[in-house]
Amino acid sequence: MSVPILEVVDLHAAYGRIEVLRGVDLRVPKGAVMALLGPNGAGKSTLVKVISGQKGATSGDIHLGGVHVQDTSPEELARLGLCTIPEGRSVFPNLSVEENLTLMSYAGVATEAVLDTAYSYFPRLHQRRHQLAGTMSGGEQQMLAMSRALASDPALLLLDELSMGLAPLIVDELYDTVAQIAESGVSILCIEQFARTALRVSDYAAVMTGGRIVATGEPAEVMDTMSDVILGGAA
Ligand code: ATP
Repeated sequence: MSVPILEVVDLHAAYGRIEVLRGVDLRVPKGAVMALLGPNGAGKSTLVKVISGQKGATSGDIHLGGVHVQDTSPEELARLGLCTIPEGRSVFPNLSVEENLTLMSYAGVATEAVLDTAYSYFPRLHQRRHQLAGTMSGGEQQMLAMSRALASDPALLLLDELSMGLAPLIVDELYDTVAQIAESGVSILCIEQFARTALRVSDYAAVMTGGRIVATGEPAEVMDTMSDVILGGAA
């Protein structure tokens, strides 16, 4: 079996004295799309924060492509191929679409390559390249956030609630692009409340409740056994 792109072992994390991650075990195979599902408050966003180096763990291990990355800075994680799109996106609202994208060239990526990638995945961004990012729709902002992430040529993309605040049709469109991105060889872990949409493009699903992974497997299998938990909040 090849080395997984992400392996999390017995991970614990807390806010003050309240333990939120209570022994998380998770394995994302290289090249796979995995949906991480679960109700509000399960600890999904906290897990993303710990994996992406924004929050420390109390104990446990994280390996990225076989490299032990516990307590590694976000910059070093980016160098190792991890890219996170946090909940609520992360565009610069007072800069144009094109300025948001060309900022990536300061991170050492050629401007032309950044723009080509963004506009090939999202032609709509080309039409709106001079528009201020903050005046675009939520879906368009998410396209921009995804384009900026892709510019860093990630090995593993962490998507936290891609669908937040968006209409179902836009969410579907974004997940079609997630599938295309995966086809290009990027591994993806997507945290999502809109389970059905995420599962449509996923190879595997994991379900988290109460700070632990309580089920993993193929989407249909997980949906069969865990539908109460998965669909408890949203369809
Ligand atoms: P949601 O889908 O609602 O975002 P989630 O599964 O992502 O839920 P988390 O956001 O990780 O869950 O939250 C897990 C628990 O940790 C919740 O009980 C939440 O109230 C608590 N929590 C999250 N962030 C903080 C914080 N900064 N300080 C204290 N408690 C927090």
